[in-house]
Amino acid sequence: MSVPPSSLLTMVHVARPLIDDDVLETWPLLYRALVVAAAGGHHILLNNKMPPKDGVNLEVATLLGQLLPGRLVAADPHVTLASLLGISHPGLAAQAEGGVLYMPEAPAQDARVLDGLCDIMDAGRVEVSRGGEPTVWPARFLLVAARTDCPCGTYRTDRCHCTPTAAARWRARADRLFGRCGINIDMPATSLPPLPDGWPGGGRIFVGRIRSAQAMRHAGLGCSLRGEMPAEAALAAAAAGQCWGEVVALRSAGLISQRTTDTIARVALTLADLGGRAAPSVDDVNRAIRLAQ
Ligand SMILES: [Zn+2]
Repeated sequence: MSVPPSSLLTMVHVARPLIDDDVLETWPLLYRALVVAAAGGHHILLNNKMPPKDGVNLEVATLLGQLLPGRLVAADPHVTLASLLGISHPGLAAQAEGGVLYMPEAPAQDARVLDGLCDIMDAGRVEVSRGGEPTVWPARFLLVAARTDCPCGTYRTDRCHCTPTAAARWRARADRLFGRCGINIDMPATSLPPLPDGWPGGGRIFVGRIRSAQAMRHAGLGCSLRGEMPAEAALAAAAAGQCWGEVVALRSAGLISQRTTDTIARVALTLADLGGRAAPSVDDVNRAIRLAQ
């Protein structure tokens, strides 16, 4: 889609610092990442190097939910497409509107469920047909998807007997989904870091301020959050800071996909918003690259 020059100017010229981000900088990386995800509307991938401790992935999804107005909806490890979409009533995706949809062990899910989920994430709504009559439910949630590196979850340890091919196939199963996750979090082997002072109230204040500013800035683009920006507009705005060279180099070398490039642009813009910068700095871009991979 083409973007009118006036819209680009509106996005680029944001001189007023939005918040004092000193407090945020003192928080552990996990909690900062959750604020970035909630503020910009970026989906989250939780990487578990070992089988996760019971409930720890769901705990992260719950923490993200504390920053958002909608509810947390947790899917089963083997969810069906019908329960995701809904038939006569809104399914899991629509129930999570404005909140969080948690998906444990994403590579174990049926391929049709993963494809359906990607379609919903792209459209921001669910469309089902009942007796020829289409029904539409809004479904703009933040996804928290968890994964391990192989079917047994202990890849590259003495305990793992998965072949490299089986492990690679396992990780590739949900590639389409993971390219949409702008925030990658390497999960700790044991428990989460202690809650920072001011959680979740302080986090909600950051998120509310950034979301309000984004909604004004995106008027005319048909979206409200950085994570929802059309790719062309996000890339143009991210490159406006003249600090985009590293991402261009990664893309030119074939090290990242175009989808990941677009996702990095959206996250870099949210990081700039959080720091009150008009466009992403080198630091914002480097952080966005690290978060997205
Ligand atoms: Zn294994």
